Amino acid sequence: MAEGVFSDQVVDVVIVGAGIAGMAAAFDLQSRGVSVRVLEASTRAGGVIATDRFDDWVVDAGPDSLLVQKPAAVALCRELGIADRLVSTLTPRTAYVLRDDQLHPIAEGSFLGFPITAGALAQSGLFSVAGKARMAGELFIPRRTGDEDESIGDFVRRRFGQEAVDYLAEPLLAGIHAGDVDRLSIHALFPRLVEAERRSGSVIRALRALRVRPSPQGAFVSLPGGVGELVDALSRALAPGTIVTGARATGVERSDTYAIDSTAGGIRARSVVLAVPAYAAASLVRTLDPALADLCNAVPYASTATVAFGYGRDQIAHPLRGTGFVVPRTEGIALLAGTWVSSKWPGRAPAGHVLIRGFLGGGRDPRRLDASDRELVETAQRELVDLLGISGSPLFARLYRWTRQSPQYEVGHLQRVAQIERRLTTLPGFFVTGSGFRAIGIPDCISDGRATAARAADYATARS
Ligand SMILES: Cc1cc2nc3c(=O)[nH]c(=O)nc-3n(C[C@H](O)[C@H](O)[C@H](O)COP(=O)(O)OP(=O)(O)OC[C@H]3O[C@@H](n4cnc5c(N)ncnc54)[C@H](O)[C@@H]3O)c2cc1C
Repeated sequence: MAEGVFSDQVVDVVIVGAGIAGMAAAFDLQSRGVSVRVLEASTRAGGVIATDRFDDWVVDAGPDSLLVQKPAAVALCRELGIADRLVSTLTPRTAYVLRDDQLHPIAEGSFLGFPITAGALAQSGLFSVAGKARMAGELFIPRRTGDEDESIGDFVRRRFGQEAVDYLAEPLLAGIHAGDVDRLSIHALFPRLVEAERRSGSVIRALRALRVRPSPQGAFVSLPGGVGELVDALSRALAPGTIVTGARATGVERSDTYAIDSTAGGIRARSVVLAVPAYAAASLVRTLDPALADLCNAVPYASTATVAFGYGRDQIAHPLRGTGFVVPRTEGIALLAGTWVSSKWPGRAPAGHVLIRGFLGGGRDPRRLDASDRELVETAQRELVDLLGISGSPLFARLYRWTRQSPQYEVGHLQRVAQIERRLTTLPGFFVTGSGFRAIGIPDCISDGRATAARAADYATARS
């Protein structure tokens, strides 16, 4: 092991990766009185959670929303003493879908964009008459026999028809994951829809029976200083020195303990939690178990970019009454989606100004990110100008590249993760967590990180 900052320490648990999963795991271990170090390759904690704050602008470079329905993020905010700072989305919370150069609102009475009431379907200007008839016909489509995984596209096409794939499933359900609708797994990403069909024979019937109503507080919350506030609070809550930045783990060896080498030196631990992207986990486990490394490496990743623009309110003709819009592939433009950030969250732009974010790349447009920073900014700006009636230049434009940061839970993902779990049983005290495996989005990363921490704590304390 390389000499470095750790001298000859043996800690209970070493976590590799200080994204939200690794940080939540560290927080949990600390609360249990277990000694823990977090090795982080980059110069800051938080992983893809990053908030830029300048003048009176608050720009989330990556994620901007915490889903309330999955309570782990709100619960963590409570433990960190920042729950009273949580803010709901502003109203109206309408999201729009682009079709034929028009932004169509997703009707009230929809679930994941699918109109589940007759009123919602009738009101919607997004679908043709034939498309609406086919969607309403979902009530009469027989239940599928068999339980094997299928793509989001296949599931929605089978139940709701092609228009629902083109204008809902592709831009919205696959779009959230920056993925390809015909590759992403419905079982891994939208198990509630699968369960709805299985239970009731019809997704619409099942959702109507559940009486899913939009919460008056909205489905998402955030923090006034952006989601980065959560990372700041976690950093403050962890004992000084717990997270070591600039420490890229380069290898792991196993004897009576685990020896983890990093660019900041070597450290030994009774238990190891890898909280890094699956491909990074693959290179770290290669010497321990090449088959495990191959399984981790097989999780595909997509790259995206977000581009944030600040404008004066009077530069934009569109009323921006809602949270933003998604763009179906069929519309043939580069933007995947846009968020009207200052209409969605309070306090993101100075008075009389507007903050807008565009998304580019993803599984449907993988070559897009080969373009230069300048080209990406110009593309996003040009398309937003056309869509929203913008005049003049933005006050600023900031580009954030997220290269290989969106794991793609493709058909078969759950089976692959089960295989990974089986192989890990031959490495006692060795665990993986984070978005590459069993956790979609921040709340899942927090709950999976904490559950993994509990397993690591049990293992390490039994051996200390
Ligand atoms: C653009 C974008 C928007 C999103 N929007 C939302 C949203 O609004 N709401 C939501 O809930 N989710 C959203 N997500 C998803 C969510 O942000 C992620 O699922 C989650 O933050 C991933 O956390 P993580 O800890 O698993 O991984 P990461 O954040 O990727 O952290 C992994 C860490 O490991 C470090 N690392 C890698 N290799 C090594 C090594 N060898 N040694 C040491 N350290 C290493 C990395 O530097 C990184 O800090 C979004 C994602 C993206 C990309």
